[in-house]
Amino acid sequence: MHKRLFIPGPVDVAPDVLEKMGTQMIGHRTKDASVLQKSISDKMRKVMYTSNEILLSTSSGSGLMEGAIRSCTRKRAAVFSVGAFGDRWYKMATANGVPADKFSSELGQPTTPIMVEEALATGKYDLITITHNETSTGIMNPVAEIAEVVKKYPEVIFCLDTVSSMGGTYIPVDELGVDICITSTQKCLGLPPGMAICSISQKALDAAKQVENRGLYFDLLDLYNYIQKKDYQYPSTPSLSHMYALDYQLDKMLEEGLENRFNRHLEMAKYVREWARKHFEMLAEDQYASNTLTTIKNTKEISIKDLNNKLGERGYMISNGYGDLKDVTFRIAHMADTTLADIKVLLNIIEEILNL
Ligand SMILES: *Cc1c(COP(=O)(O)O)cnc(C)c1O
Repeated sequence: MHKRLFIPGPVDVAPDVLEKMGTQMIGHRTKDASVLQKSISDKMRKVMYTSNEILLSTSSGSGLMEGAIRSCTRKRAAVFSVGAFGDRWYKMATANGVPADKFSSELGQPTTPIMVEEALATGKYDLITITHNETSTGIMNPVAEIAEVVKKYPEVIFCLDTVSSMGGTYIPVDELGVDICITSTQKCLGLPPGMAICSISQKALDAAKQVENRGLYFDLLDLYNYIQKKDYQYPSTPSLSHMYALDYQLDKMLEEGLENRFNRHLEMAKYVREWARKHFEMLAEDQYASNTLTTIKNTKEISIKDLNNKLGERGYMISNGYGDLKDVTFRIAHMADTTLADIKVLLNIIEEILNL
């Protein structure tokens, strides 16, 4: 039996979107391939509220995260971490020999504008990474306030991880001054895993020109130059299957209306938060709580494994905590094409199982 996924990626994929993955191949050096790639870029620009160029990568989101920090750090990167995915960005920097420092917040706490100001004021950094939505703690960082600080440092390249939030909440990339905004297919976009997408500014491209060792597969400048020269075709063979499905899903998202989509996510989030407060506790403070997933403190010390086994028998799956929070929290994702009605059904079943 299929288990309906309420985990923060991969998510359930709508049957019609899944069907597009099975479209027959075309040559990746054909006019049709160029048309497909340009169509995706145009629609992604709408979702991201940007006029910057869009790059597609046949990898998960981590590929473009590694590419961004390696391609565009000239001096030193300031990596702000609010959990597992910020930590990963720091590991990517060090694994590539990119000089970097990590600024961590306590688990469950956000990156604050003051932390960013203090780091950038030292003049040591020319690139920063921020996790927009930390999928381990369910924190959504105050990115508008952070952006105001970053704008005071025009030499700094602003990289934003929106892997678990883009398409689920309003992230106006150009207004925020984000130079590289990264996401991947298997979370709020509602597609199978396997493709990553980023926007890239001219400023980031100019920075990359000054970096000597940018790697190859994830060299963002090389990808950019290639698609300019080759009419939006990529250096290596892309996952055409994802591209068909993404192009189709983006139509569906724009048809739903981005504002409606964001409101649907918010409505689900508010419902889950209220439920969490009634029966357990929230990890995040209200003002920083994520709109796309909720991390709940396991105050009743239930066995999350047992709960998930019982949910599994009824065709559902939620997520335990991540990393250090594995047993002390659990997570319910409310992203992509999930509806409030789905969430209500899930929470009712959890109440039945736990006798809440
Ligand atoms: C899932 C996730 C990642 C990693 O993305 P992949 O597509 O699995 O490589 C990075 N950052 C955040 C916030 C995530 O939720």
